[in-house]
Amino acid sequence: MSGLCGVVSREHCPEILMFGTDYHSHLGSQLGGMAVLGERFEKKIHDITQGSFKFRFSKDVQEMVGTMGIGVVSDSDAQPLLIRSRFGLYALAMTGLIGNKDALARELLDRGTVFTESSEGGINGIELLARLIDRGGDLAEGLASVYDAIEGAASMLLLDNDGILAARDRLGRSPLIIGERGDDLMVASESIALISLGFTPVKELGPGEIVRISHDGYRVVRAPAQAMRICAFLWIYTGYPAASYEGIGVEGVRERCGAALVRRDPVQADLAAGVPDSGTGHGIGYASAAGIPFRRALVKYTPGYGRSYIPSSQSARDHVARMKLIAVPEVVRGASMVLCEDSIVRGTQLANHTIQKLWSAGAREIHMRAACPPLMFPCRYGFSTRALEELVARRAIRSLEGDMSGNLERYLDEDSPEHARMVEWIRTMLKVTTLRYQRLDDMIAAIGLPADRLCTYCWTGKACGYREVGPD
Ligand code: SF4
Repeated sequence: MSGLCGVVSREHCPEILMFGTDYHSHLGSQLGGMAVLGERFEKKIHDITQGSFKFRFSKDVQEMVGTMGIGVVSDSDAQPLLIRSRFGLYALAMTGLIGNKDALARELLDRGTVFTESSEGGINGIELLARLIDRGGDLAEGLASVYDAIEGAASMLLLDNDGILAARDRLGRSPLIIGERGDDLMVASESIALISLGFTPVKELGPGEIVRISHDGYRVVRAPAQAMRICAFLWIYTGYPAASYEGIGVEGVRERCGAALVRRDPVQADLAAGVPDSGTGHGIGYASAAGIPFRRALVKYTPGYGRSYIPSSQSARDHVARMKLIAVPEVVRGASMVLCEDSIVRGTQLANHTIQKLWSAGAREIHMRAACPPLMFPCRYGFSTRALEELVARRAIRSLEGDMSGNLERYLDEDSPEHARMVEWIRTMLKVTTLRYQRLDDMIAAIGLPADRLCTYCWTGKACGYREVGPD
């Protein structure tokens, strides 16, 4: 996952670009980068696993000079890259996933293309995109040609001498929003970056739309397509509570998810709580609809942790995450509670630590509620889980069927006995009193977009790349 930010300003822009990019820190935790254009291009890339984006770049922005720039936080490729091409020098950053990276790279290598950057031992995806862009008649055409070439998703920012080209993914899987502040323009993956820095959102790019942002304003250079499959998980988990996409606020969706869980399955409980932070909105919605208090059964202890220390191994990261969550005995002791969580991915953290802490603090009953259906497929567009075996629902199926894909269609049917057995297996593993998952149609209704405008692949396994969706 990655988050993008770009600025075109009348003034010196590195500092505002740094803050704008930093507001995307929830979308990437491995690498951060900035490219700024003044008299010349300047680029910096840092490891941000041991410190926040703004901490890592605070010294650089004192030295960088320019009125236009792009920034990115990323979990994979080092970016932005500076590309010397037949269109001149430019900087490029992207969010998404190139599912057919190896095949595309092989095709280009066979034609004599040379790759100089590497990423995780392979070809850097940003450099691959640049080689695809090279095939267009101009930069905008090149960006559009990326849409046709890749399997996966890609929203991109390209900085050249004329400004920034902002290109939203072909099916709008991830958002890009433009904001104005006086003569200055910012484009960002997250609307909160704009709003928090005093920019007024003026345009959300449509699917596949490409916009040129310059000192003269912004203009559309490729019209948006009709078909859209924006990531539904943005509202459920990945998005920041104050953000909105397609004009629909994240927190409101989470509250409606909580309310939908009550309508399907009210439970007698003393209170509702959420696993912080992303379960909080769902918990508030549940409490409000059920007419019971929302209370903070779990709180996060962040001072001293935050982003100032992120260990390199998964087990050490789990350890830190577990230390950050604390049960509040005064709230929990003797209580029957509904505990809302955005989703249950692996379930190990919940089972081994979070729920254990609530029992230890004296909980009487724990009714676990997940705001989305069981995650059944790894994301193939670069926005969430990457491995099938990580998913607790698949581990349940393997335990029940002897194979992770055994009888899969039956487990996908929310009304089947197999689905019920899978949920019961997960309930036992989590050691909770009851467990219910949101139904897919309730989740879609809570978001409020038609089902055929959303990507729901990780729950349904129904591929919805542009090849499946068909021509616009
Ligand atoms: S597969 Fe899931 S996480 Fe990935 S884009 Fe689709 S809805 Fe989002």
